[in-house]
Amino acid sequence: MTYMKTLILATRNPGKVREFQTLLGPLGYEVVTAQQAGYDEEPEETGTTFHENALIKARAVFEGTDRQYAVLSDDSGLAVDALSGAPGVYSARYAGPGCSDDDNNKKLARELSGRTDLSARTARYQIALCLIEPEGDPVFFEAACEGVIGFEERGSGGFGYDVLFIPVGVDGRPLDGRTFAEMSAAEKHPLSHRGKAVAGLMQFLRSRAV
Ligand code: IMP
Repeated sequence: MTYMKTLILATRNPGKVREFQTLLGPLGYEVVTAQQAGYDEEPEETGTTFHENALIKARAVFEGTDRQYAVLSDDSGLAVDALSGAPGVYSARYAGPGCSDDDNNKKLARELSGRTDLSARTARYQIALCLIEPEGDPVFFEAACEGVIGFEERGSGGFGYDVLFIPVGVDGRPLDGRTFAEMSAAEKHPLSHRGKAVAGLMQFLRSRAV
């Protein structure tokens, strides 16, 4: 019988658990939610950076499950240069408590309505993954995805701000002009902040696999 190591994902999102199980299962990890591991609280995300919030979430679950299991958390969001980095760590609740993705996108479009040149609409998605293992210090995997905020919403894939987010290349120009919401998941993943951070995590875990 193969020995499986438990990894608790500090999220309530079953979609994220499935995604990580697919990626980490072959490396010998059984991925479970914090709830399944007996931790049913939602720590307050009081940090001012993605790094801080990822650490807050991972630490809360790690302590709440008696430091027995490895815990992985993530925190991500969109930083717009013309808005001094907003919505940043407030990305999910930009338009107020209980708001929808649509409310957030409408607010973002409004805030940028005076910026009529694409070069004044630069932004990036950012993410921090935090892994805490019983025998070690927290390890972070951080990544970003550069882009510009489009003038109108386009596409129906993805989530969050993807209908407005147009990824750019190293020269700062849109790759092909499509938003993330106009791409398939397979096209978005290798370009995205999440895809890059997960690749770093996988490399780290793989390098230790026996
Ligand atoms: P969380 O880290 O899953 O809590 O995501 C925070 C928020 O950032 C989401 O609710 C979205 O508004 C935004 N966000 C993070 N990553 C993405 C992405 O890949 N596409 C679109 N929006 C994102």
